[in-house]
Amino acid sequence: MDKILRFFSSYINVFKLNDLVDIAIITLVIFWLIKLVKETRAMQLLRGIIVLFVVLQLSDWFNLNVVNFALSKTIEVGVLALVIIFQPELRHALERVGTGLGDIFPFTNAETNAEETEKAITEISDVCQSMSASKTGALIVIERKSRLNDIFATGTKLDSIVTKELIGNIFYPKTPLHDGAVIISGNRIKAAGCVLPLTQNTALPSELGTRHRAAIGMSEQSDAVVIVVSEETGKISIARKGMLTRNYDRESLHRTLQKLLITLPEQQDKRKKLFPVRKGDK
Ligand code: ATP
Ligand code: MG
Repeated sequence: MDKILRFFSSYINVFKLNDLVDIAIITLVIFWLIKLVKETRAMQLLRGIIVLFVVLQLSDWFNLNVVNFALSKTIEVGVLALVIIFQPELRHALERVGTGLGDIFPFTNAETNAEETEKAITEISDVCQSMSASKTGALIVIERKSRLNDIFATGTKLDSIVTKELIGNIFYPKTPLHDGAVIISGNRIKAAGCVLPLTQNTALPSELGTRHRAAIGMSEQSDAVVIVVSEETGKISIARKGMLTRNYDRESLHRTLQKLLITLPEQQDKRKKLFPVRKGDK
């Protein structure tokens, strides 16, 4: 018994707090990498890389010098090629790390007032309902934590409160800004006529054209909520986290946006406790 205790205590003495932090960080990084690989196109690629390494090792054992040389050179160049090919995924992953930090540093996230958000949601739901009835095509991106500055830059800058009249006007056919997407950030219309990234998902039904693919693409690359009104069918859809849900009406759209965009009072309280509001702050 004494021996066993001494055995463990020797390890406990060696095992310090920094080792624990070390192991925890590595565990998180590995977990995050596996998750990333599973969520992206990287799965097929990972199989390819494993095959490449197996062949490289075999060529070494069997002294296949030319194969070994060619493969090792390919792998050297391959690392650079991977960074280029997977630039969107890497960028998305880093953005997600940044988004996670947004919870820790709330000031990086534009504070939105729940009452204003409620008003904006009502305006958006109303105008989507009327654009759906008149089969007016629309694409509305509501920014959340991921910053969309590079997307704003593709369109025309605006800075206006969210009203159904303005959104209706923007998407009115043949007007200068009707093509592309409207971006709403901090309850303000920040830009119109913006170009969104198209999804690379090949499994989507063919009836979904570029407007819907742009909405899905945007929702894959950020945590934004994207609303689409179809010009062909009048259907209202929401894209979120790379998924499209369809057939909303005014009420269901309103309810869903409320759920997604309005921070619940208990969450706000929790934030205030972590970062107490000073006197004079709003
Ligand atoms: P709908 O059901 O409204 O016809 P759809 O999914 O079939 O939509 P298209 O018919 O191809 O899509 O819609 C074309 C319109 O979608 C363009 O005129 C443009 O306004 C918008 N659009 C297409 N691609 C993008 C993009 N990458 N970013 C922003 N808007 C886009
Ligand atoms: Mg179409």
